[in-house]
Amino acid sequence: MSMHFGPRDAPPSWFEPAERIPQPRRPALTARPEPSRIAEWGSATCDKIVGGIRGGLWRFTEGVADVLFPGLGPTVGAARRSTKWGPSLVGLNDGRDADVKIGLVGSENLGLWTIFRTRLGQSDLGPRPVWCTDLATVPLGTEGINTEATAITGIEDVKPTDVGRLLLAPPSADARTRLLLRVDVRRRSGIVAVDAGDGVWQRRLFFTVVHPARRGDGHHETYRVVCPVCGRRRLAQFRGFDVCSDCGWLLTQT
Ligand SMILES: [Zn+2]
Repeated sequence: MSMHFGPRDAPPSWFEPAERIPQPRRPALTARPEPSRIAEWGSATCDKIVGGIRGGLWRFTEGVADVLFPGLGPTVGAARRSTKWGPSLVGLNDGRDADVKIGLVGSENLGLWTIFRTRLGQSDLGPRPVWCTDLATVPLGTEGINTEATAITGIEDVKPTDVGRLLLAPPSADARTRLLLRVDVRRRSGIVAVDAGDGVWQRRLFFTVVHPARRGDGHHETYRVVCPVCGRRRLAQFRGFDVCSDCGWLLTQT
């Protein structure tokens, strides 16, 4: 993974040495999903769709945690060293035949979560939670530590099978697939894009990182029943925040 790193932090050990970022080698494929693939996507769990990038998403979250939440770095580092524990992946709308998948990757112990939203197809327009941020995938900016950085980007090579479910058409078994993760530092929100092996970044997932400052015992000072974005009534409660299990709308408890 090469890393364009933000202020206040040296690249963690899991970042491989920086290397040149390849430029697009040929135009995007005009892949369209087959009906069977749409049905397959709808009935699949979050783990089936996103499980292959769970590790990459969490490593990135850990790597940027101290930039997004100054002071959190040592706690994250200690947790990483002291256990063999891996992050949980929670699919919030599993089993509902949904064309948008909403889930979280994170740690209850750390109180650090990455909430994600992904949809089959390259665009995810229409009503969305405000944290969905249409970050561009290019330019990547200069490599190394930049104290003025407003965004942090990580890139890593991944297996075709790890990202195949995120794409309209599965890549070939020998495709040189890559993952790009980019977060807007101020908004603490970002995107995951996939290179299916043709050098073109396809934005495939939105995410936002939360670390509720005051993590209570689950009691709510305000209690909402209806999601203001999608109008449905399936808000999932976590320690310090609520998230709509249908669209990803987020309410951090204060
Ligand atoms: Zn909603």
